[in-house]
Amino acid sequence: MSISDMLITSAYFGRARWRWRLNRQRLRDFQNTKAQQLIPWVAQHSAFYRQHWQGHDLRDWRNLPTVDKRLMMANFREFNTLQVPAAAAFDLAQQAEQERDFVPRLGDLTVGLSSGTSGHRGLFLLSPAEQLLWVGTILARTLHHIKPTKIAFFLRANSNLYQQLGGRLIQFRYFDLTQALEPQLEMLNTYQPTIIVAPPALLLQLLAAAQNGALTHRPERMISVADALASDEQAQLSRFFGIPIEQIYQATEGLLAISCAHGSLHIQEDLVALDFEDLGQGRVTPYVTDLWRRTQPIIRYRLNDVLRLSSQACSCGSSFTVIEQIEGRRDDICYFTAYGQRQAMFPDSLRRAILLAHPAILEYQIIQPADDQLQITLTVANATDPTLISTAVEQQIQRQLAEYGCSAYHLSINFAAIDYGTLNKRRRVIRQ
Ligand SMILES: [Zn+2]
Repeated sequence: MSISDMLITSAYFGRARWRWRLNRQRLRDFQNTKAQQLIPWVAQHSAFYRQHWQGHDLRDWRNLPTVDKRLMMANFREFNTLQVPAAAAFDLAQQAEQERDFVPRLGDLTVGLSSGTSGHRGLFLLSPAEQLLWVGTILARTLHHIKPTKIAFFLRANSNLYQQLGGRLIQFRYFDLTQALEPQLEMLNTYQPTIIVAPPALLLQLLAAAQNGALTHRPERMISVADALASDEQAQLSRFFGIPIEQIYQATEGLLAISCAHGSLHIQEDLVALDFEDLGQGRVTPYVTDLWRRTQPIIRYRLNDVLRLSSQACSCGSSFTVIEQIEGRRDDICYFTAYGQRQAMFPDSLRRAILLAHPAILEYQIIQPADDQLQITLTVANATDPTLISTAVEQQIQRQLAEYGCSAYHLSINFAAIDYGTLNKRRRVIRQ
């Protein structure tokens, strides 16, 4: 990183620290000021948005028509403000991933693919200025104390973006998720990172390695990325390592939320303005407006995620809203009939039913092929009686559904070895 880039990054770092203390009103004002500057500019430079917003008052930005991944990908060239065609960006990102050459650039743009489920991968473009903003801000929000820090980062693919994180005070080592774990455990034991950043599936592998003695190093902090961390997994990891398990919730659509020093997952409301659609039963789905990005503007973009928000203020003192739980995808909400009506069952409720059923269940997948039907696949520990487990799962599901008033449904249970791997998002509940 050049001296001038370093100065710019430090300035972003300082300002992000300062904004972390904004109260609700000033945060709201800040969002509004940023949006009022951004939106007319986007209308001028993105042919897609200009067309999409025709006849709307741009000052009333929280009510502009929404967009989603399908619209973005179908109109990628007109959507971004540099007219980069999707095919060129996609080929470059994919080629870089295959060749493990992690410097995919299109001119001076960084190109990346999000780790979405196959077929739904999103593209992102970042200008050099946007990269510096990202680096400065993510460091400000994740490094709670300024001290020498070694970070071990487990990722599917390294990126320009992450390579910029390194510096004199902060050492950064990339661990390749596509490689075997054993030699990497050795490296962790000798490198002794302060912070381990990895997808939850890998954190669980590290837990198993720590329990059997292959991993002797104990990091000061662990941060879960790239996939939703289930509450039971979080509790399990936290109990063993004696630290809160933090999260970074980031997507093609932006840097959405980061855990604070007290372990609460705060929406980064000075980076993204989120509006919510109420799904009932305390769940919401977010619409994202990224207040900073201009190369690929993300404005009123509908995410597919189901969130539960906290109504409590965090003890850290920040007024940024806290996410209680990221519950999965909106597409995976299951439906049952109760009292002649179609009733939504959130993935988390089904997951809880399975977890409560029997401790010998190691992994599972729940598929809903149609309303009122569930196909459950279980992976269980050796030497457990399948009939016993089937009965326990049936009882739990029945109890859960009875709470919703559903009595007529079809349930099938079978046993097989499920291994999601560490590279993929673990979709444990799927609505087909
Ligand atoms: Zn907090």
